[in-house]
Amino acid sequence: MPANFKVSNADRVVDPTTGITKVEVVRFYGLVAPLMMEHLKSRPVSFVRAPQGIKGQLFFQKHLDEGQMAGVRQLDPALWPAHPELIEVANPLGLLSAAQMNVIELHTWNAVKTLIGKPDRMTFDLDPGEGVGWPMVLQATELMRVVLDELGLPSFCKTSGGKGLHVVVPLKRQYDWDTVKDFSQAIVRHMARTVPQMFVAKSGPSNRVGRIFIDYLRNGFGATTVCAWSVRARPGMGVSVPVEWAEVPTLASGAQWTLRNIHARLDRGNDPWAGYAKAAISPGAAMKRLGFEPAKLRAR
Ligand code: ATP
Ligand code: MN
Repeated sequence: MPANFKVSNADRVVDPTTGITKVEVVRFYGLVAPLMMEHLKSRPVSFVRAPQGIKGQLFFQKHLDEGQMAGVRQLDPALWPAHPELIEVANPLGLLSAAQMNVIELHTWNAVKTLIGKPDRMTFDLDPGEGVGWPMVLQATELMRVVLDELGLPSFCKTSGGKGLHVVVPLKRQYDWDTVKDFSQAIVRHMARTVPQMFVAKSGPSNRVGRIFIDYLRNGFGATTVCAWSVRARPGMGVSVPVEWAEVPTLASGAQWTLRNIHARLDRGNDPWAGYAKAAISPGAAMKRLGFEPAKLRAR
C-alpha cells in the first residue's frame, strides 16, 4: 500500500462475526493486487459495496455513479450504447481506492474491452443445493472437468469464496454471447443426460433436491461472476482462490481461504492457473463433438 494512502474509518468493523475492519480489507487488496490485476485487466467490473459493513445493506454497482475513484476508469460508452459507462479497475491503486470506498466484492464480465461482443471464457457455477453435501459438489466438479476434457475444452477451477466452486473455460474470442451461452447450456444439458442422478439441466427448486444445477447463466451479455482474489461480503469473508485440479478433492469448502488465512496461500498465487493464458482454444470442434450448432450456421 502506498505510504500516503489514506483510509477513512480504518477501524470500523466490516464483519462483526470476525471483527475484520475496513483497513484490513484495504490491506488485503493491497496484498493481492498484483495477483488480482491479471484477472481484472481490461474487463468490465461490478462492485458490491458495504458502507455499513456486510450486515448492513449491500449495493451492487456497475457504474461510477458516486464520484471518482483513482485507478477506476470509465470505459468507452460505445461498448454498450444507450447505457451508462461500464467501468474497469485499471491498476492496483484502483483496487485500494475501491476498498476505501467500501467495495468488498469485485465481479467481472466474461469479455474484455477490446472485443466486448465476443466472450473470452465460459463460467460454470457449481453450488451445493438443498440435500447436496460438499463431497457431491467435489465429485460433480470433477465430472464437469472430465466432460470438458472429452470435449477438448481446457478448464480451470477456483473457489467461490462462498458456498461452491467455479469452473472457467478460456476461449478464443470468436463466437458471440448468445452462441457461447447456448453452448454452455448445451454442455450442462449433456451432463444432466449423462449423469441424471447427479445433475439437473433446469433451475427451479423442485427438481433440484439432492442434485446439482450447474449455473450456465453467468455466460450471458452483462452477466458477471466474482473475480479471483475477491473477498466476499459474507460472514468470515471468504476469498475466491484459483486452485489446481489435483487439489480439488482436498478442498474443505468454497470458503476454505478467507481474508484472515489467505497469507498461507499467497505464495501459490496464480500458479495453479499457470497454463491459463495459453490454453484458450476455438470451441468449434467441441461444439461439433457435442452436436451443437451455432444459431447462425443453423440459419444459413
Ligand atoms: P456461491 O458459491 O456462494 O454460490 P457465487 O459467487 O457463485 O457464490 P453469488 O454471490 O450468489 O454466487 O452471485 C450470483 C450471481 O449474481 C453472480 O453472477 C454475481 O456476479 C451476481 N450478483 C451478485 N450480487 C448481485 C446483485 N446485487 N445484483 C446483480 N447481480 C448480482
Ligand atoms: Mn455459486
